[in-house]
Amino acid sequence: MQYYDQHLHTYFSPDSKEEFENYLSQSELPVVTTEHIDFYSQNQSHDDVIPDYEGYSKKIAELNQKFNNRLLRGIEIGFTYADRDKIEQFLAGKDYDIKLLSIHHNGRHGFMTLNHDVKDLKTHLEEYFGLMLEAVRNAPYANVLAHFDFGLRGYDNVKVEDLQDSEELLLQIFETMVSNGQALELNTRSMYRYDNDHLYDYAIDLFKSVGGDMFTVSSDAHVAGDYQLGFEEAFNKLRNHGINKLVVFQKGIAHYVDIPQ
Ligand SMILES: [Zn+2]
Ligand SMILES: [Zn+2]
Repeated sequence: MQYYDQHLHTYFSPDSKEEFENYLSQSELPVVTTEHIDFYSQNQSHDDVIPDYEGYSKKIAELNQKFNNRLLRGIEIGFTYADRDKIEQFLAGKDYDIKLLSIHHNGRHGFMTLNHDVKDLKTHLEEYFGLMLEAVRNAPYANVLAHFDFGLRGYDNVKVEDLQDSEELLLQIFETMVSNGQALELNTRSMYRYDNDHLYDYAIDLFKSVGGDMFTVSSDAHVAGDYQLGFEEAFNKLRNHGINKLVVFQKGIAHYVDIPQ
């Protein structure tokens, strides 16, 4: 089995217009899209994002006929504790190859649209990683923690030392992931578009220090041009950290595969 990108969006996500074919045409590898589910609170003027599971399943079945069964099924779960039951109800009885776990908002505001003036970084990080710990504890069914630095994208020049202030929380998150059998995603969009590459060096070592050995490298592409964004660099980074295997998830089962040369 060969490694493939495990975080992609299509028009089945509200923030993408991309077609499956534009990913499929770029390689002979399996293609798995991970479409959004996000619930919002009443304080947020935002409609819930609920995937069209029927339409998605139908489309995947059609494409699998044409493309040699290369399509897998995925979902990106925007977790909030308040919505944990609704999320589980949605997932019940549905078949996904891979489930990503994300923390996109805190019930008041999204983490991409933070007002920098409102909160200092340290307070923000404690809140954000606190929500992440709650997520991994309450969503053991998820396979991968996506973009662990998502909540930092709204701040410029976050340093490793800033994360070290929250190291206790991060260790608890990573220990929980190891006991849940969850992988840590290297989100190349975060690394190379949001310049958080250096934060991943820290996270990889910290995850390893508690026994973590499951890693994915994914582009989080919303357009086909970002498919496998920066993969070479990310693969080299992992090798530099002494890691030689990645994991892919199929029917929720982790398979270790070599890092492509
Ligand atoms: Zn996301
Ligand atoms: Zn995504």
